[in-house]
Amino acid sequence: QLSPRTAIITGSTSGIGLGIARQLAAEGCNVVVNSFSDTPEDRATAESLSAEHGVKAIYVQADMSDPEQCRSLVASAAAAFGSVDILVNNAGVQYVAPVEEFPIAKWNQIIAINLSSAFHTSAAAIPFMKQTGRGRIVNIASAHGLVASAYKSAYVAAKHGIMGLTKTIALELAQDGITCNAVCPGYVLTPLVEAQIPDQMKAHGMDRETVIREVMLDRQPTKQFVTVEQVAAAVSFLCSEAASQMNGTHVSVDGGWTAQ
Ligand code: NAD
Repeated sequence: QLSPRTAIITGSTSGIGLGIARQLAAEGCNVVVNSFSDTPEDRATAESLSAEHGVKAIYVQADMSDPEQCRSLVASAAAAFGSVDILVNNAGVQYVAPVEEFPIAKWNQIIAINLSSAFHTSAAAIPFMKQTGRGRIVNIASAHGLVASAYKSAYVAAKHGIMGLTKTIALELAQDGITCNAVCPGYVLTPLVEAQIPDQMKAHGMDRETVIREVMLDRQPTKQFVTVEQVAAAVSFLCSEAASQMNGTHVSVDGGWTAQ
């Protein structure tokens, strides 16, 4: 019987990250829940995963825009659980503006959180994965890792960047029992997306249903949101033994968006 796997999921107090933490806990992993905040709710999230699934779960506060904190997140996980088997780089933020007006601070923040954090956490986690001869790194990219949309320069650049990082890490570790892959979701109705709906309703003078169908899901051929559980299931598969020959690639969960 193998000892339980340890999974770190960055940005996992809400949305897709929380869904992935739930899925991996349900499969018996000890999980490290992370965000930049430090509230009783953050710790309660970890406690409820533990209570619900009978695994160990801890909350570690670390700001993924800070290289040192990215690396110390991994060190804390290893100190708590003795190994790092799964690293899911999920933390991400969005900002929308024309490129010539895009605030420099927003550009730097998005590149730091959506791209550079995965470099730092991976660099810190790989030595632990090499110790056990097994490891899974899954980067939550986006359909925007494969195609672009106007006004999302930093996000699209960071997500395309993480696709390149995914391939490079995969090649470097291909003989170490470690794989590195990306999952590319289309639109998922998380707090990140929900927050954009009122602005879009105002900007387009549309009601909620019309904004969802004609603006948000315009390029998602199924005209349905992807669910958090569907993204988590793709991550779970990439973490399984069956996926040991999937390496340096991506799984799209986008309702057909990138088929166009
Ligand atoms: P969300 O806003 O619901 O959750 C983001 C999580 O990241 C939260 O837990 C937040 O606290 C955390 N976070 C934000 N900044 C952080 C920081 N500096 N340090 C640590 N944690 C931080 O967003 P979501 O929709 O669940 O997005 C999760 C990931 O999925 C992101 O990388 C996003 O780009 C990607 N994604 C989302 C969609 C979508 O439609 N929702 C589509 C494709 C890809």
